[in-house]
Amino acid sequence: MRKYSMACLMFCLLAVPSLRAQLPQQQPPDLSKVQVKVQKLAENIYVLQSSGAQAGMGNIAAFVGDDGILLVDSQLVELGPKIEAALKTVSDKPVKYVLNTHWHGDHTGGNAYFGKTAIIIAQDNVRKTMQTVNDRRITNLPVSLPVITFSNELTLHLNGGEVHAIHFARGHTDGDCAVFFEKTNVIHLGDLFTNFDPPHYPALNSDNDASGGPQGEIAAIEYVLAHSPEDMKVIPGHGIVASKADLAKYLEVLKGTTAAVKAGIDQGKSLDQLKQEKVLAKWEYLESPPIKTDVYIERLYKGLIAEKNGSGSSGGGR
Ligand SMILES: [Zn+2]
Repeated sequence: MRKYSMACLMFCLLAVPSLRAQLPQQQPPDLSKVQVKVQKLAENIYVLQSSGAQAGMGNIAAFVGDDGILLVDSQLVELGPKIEAALKTVSDKPVKYVLNTHWHGDHTGGNAYFGKTAIIIAQDNVRKTMQTVNDRRITNLPVSLPVITFSNELTLHLNGGEVHAIHFARGHTDGDCAVFFEKTNVIHLGDLFTNFDPPHYPALNSDNDASGGPQGEIAAIEYVLAHSPEDMKVIPGHGIVASKADLAKYLEVLKGTTAAVKAGIDQGKSLDQLKQEKVLAKWEYLESPPIKTDVYIERLYKGLIAEKNGSGSSGGGR
């Protein structure tokens, strides 16, 4: 299962212009050997995950039925044909809608492929950011852009069921939504939640634009835990499909690490002091090569300062 971890986070890191400048120039990954695997989670719900040497694309949920297919997230444009072939193994209907959980290119890159025929949907801020951001994985505008956007909530009625998207302001980004597949106990949380084996630090906002923060992410996960059944299956943005207990455990880490850094900020400590004092020593087992403890402390620190100052955009949401 480790295969889902490293490459994925490095891939995500490279999306961030400010960080990209600090890293050695890397070639785009070779996606030719990537395989897209399909796993059934409920009667009409599947999760599609990429594996192979360069795994690291966001998890896709597929809701299939007589009306057509709804995808939640779209991975990368290069993988469009493989995703389509994987879908053909469970349905002969076309992809009718793509709903993006947030703007990052490992979740929206495939819009360029599916957007030629399907309708793209996302929260208002996703469209705004995609129009201006420097992310090489987001291509072929305006085909890739959401054509239906919403501020707080949206319900899709198809395939005899309902899909409910709820926006949470300023979590992993300023445009995150959680997608509830009503009646099936399946939810896709995008990068509000990642689930690796072995576990990593939570996926905080990494865009250096104050568009997200840890307290917003905590609020989002608390809402989801309070509004979901015990037997819920949780599709994370990256990694392994999880249980409600797994999500609760992730929240515990997020709250504990956030509280430790916030206590230092409240005492007037600088970012360097917090790093030197190793305020997260208790959680160092969660380090992964791209996200060392100091990187995570920095993301927490910047996110908390942004939340304290009320900076960044919110664009509605809970
Ligand atoms: Zn992301």
